Amino acid sequence: MAGPVQYKSTRGGESVSCFEAIMGGIAPDGGLYVPTRFPNIGKPLTDLAGCSYIQLARQIIGAFFPDFSSRDLEQSLRSAYDQKFGHPDIAPLVKKGQYFFLELFHGPTLAFKDMALSLLPHLLKKASLALGNQKKIVILTATSGDTGKAALEGFADVQGTEIIVFYPKKGVSRIQERQMITQEGRNTHVVGIEGNFDDAQRGVKEIFADRQFQKRLDDAGCMFSSANSINIGRLVPQVVYYVYSYLTLLKRGEIRPGQAVNFSVPTGNFGNILAAYYAQKIGLPVGKLICASNINHVLYDFFTTGIYDRNRNLVATSSPSMDILVSSNLERLLYDVCGKDPQLVGKFQDALQSSGRYEISDRMRSGFKDFYGGYATETDTASAIGYAFHNLDYLMDTHTGVGFDVYRKYVRQTGDDTKTVIVSTASPFKFPDKVIEAIGGNSSTGDQMELVYRLEEVSGQKVPQNIGNLDQLPVRHDRVCAASQMKELVWDILKPDKETR
Ligand SMILES: *Cc1c(COP(=O)(O)O)cnc(C)c1O
Repeated sequence: MAGPVQYKSTRGGESVSCFEAIMGGIAPDGGLYVPTRFPNIGKPLTDLAGCSYIQLARQIIGAFFPDFSSRDLEQSLRSAYDQKFGHPDIAPLVKKGQYFFLELFHGPTLAFKDMALSLLPHLLKKASLALGNQKKIVILTATSGDTGKAALEGFADVQGTEIIVFYPKKGVSRIQERQMITQEGRNTHVVGIEGNFDDAQRGVKEIFADRQFQKRLDDAGCMFSSANSINIGRLVPQVVYYVYSYLTLLKRGEIRPGQAVNFSVPTGNFGNILAAYYAQKIGLPVGKLICASNINHVLYDFFTTGIYDRNRNLVATSSPSMDILVSSNLERLLYDVCGKDPQLVGKFQDALQSSGRYEISDRMRSGFKDFYGGYATETDTASAIGYAFHNLDYLMDTHTGVGFDVYRKYVRQTGDDTKTVIVSTASPFKFPDKVIEAIGGNSSTGDQMELVYRLEEVSGQKVPQNIGNLDQLPVRHDRVCAASQMKELVWDILKPDKETR
């Protein structure tokens, strides 16, 4: 039974190695890759308490991805985390009042996506080498802001890869745009689209679906892969920080070995909180997983009624990375709690596709007993940020504000006094206007760069360097195109003779 961990699509079929799962991104049948069994890390978690972040990552990721040699894994982890993070702990746990905040925003783009996207390119490259792939790996991404920049940073100058990011020219914040168009790296390409995020996303999907175009690229020595959060290579690195935060609590004497801890996670695509569930599956003592949504609360409805229904309007909020109606990674949880039945998962996903809705049985719902769903309105989020700033001396961003508000509602409702880690997913300086308003300052100037410095004054906290110097960096990408021209542009970037023209 205990052969090496392999990967299987949630929609059925044969198992593949972790290399193939990481290279493939999404499974050929449209499902998501899940481990054939949850690995055993081989020692009691308490024995790992002395580990550094990287040492712990080697154990946990090595258990999920056994095909990587420990040398390859070690090298990849060093390239991902050694120089690029602004905090020696990588994922520091900050205690304020009786609250614990797990800060996942000390990477190069100041949001939690760096935790996995710093590592994925290195894993992808090693997997590609191991499979004997000679082709250049091309990452194509449409972004509404955060993912694109984190992917650019991760892939910049990683040999054998090329990354092309499309963003809606008028649909991202000024800080987000500056972050992208100043991106360094010989293999990075950033293109503004005349259109919105959906246009960019549709364009990318069309390119992926165009067999003829793929053939042309194949002949030119290129292949596509995905840096999207459906790639298992993004999910597994996220398991590490949940275990790390638990070990930090142990080391500080806040908990006894074996004592359960809750996690409150601001959620969008369900990747981050699913990693917490996977941590529980490998033996971490987890109490409740508090799934915090903003007013696009499809997940809250799902956990309280058993009905998933995306038939509603998407509302733009102050926590944009959580503005999402189809949380892709939920498919992996469904698979696990429905007894690993690919037919059933397929049925739900078909229904979601055709009618935008599905309903699960009461028996399946009992599989979610460790999840608690809650949501925060825009006012709730702002007052949570204000409360934390004025009463706990802690400055948090809008996404973390959602997680904090929902946690406090949970405690009021249940009286549960289990120690809880609130996952802090972005630096407050990424959303200066909303944060200034929430702590009672004046945000009435349109210019986000000015507001970054105003937030420094109001809060007494230093602007992180990666944002502070944005206005001085040279613009390195200025391409703009219509959504209908995306394919030609990709070809223009990748065609083999481009050097000689
Ligand atoms: C992506 C993101 C989230 C949501 O994470 P999921 O894994 O998609 O649930 C929350 N906060 C921030 C700042 C993010 O960038």
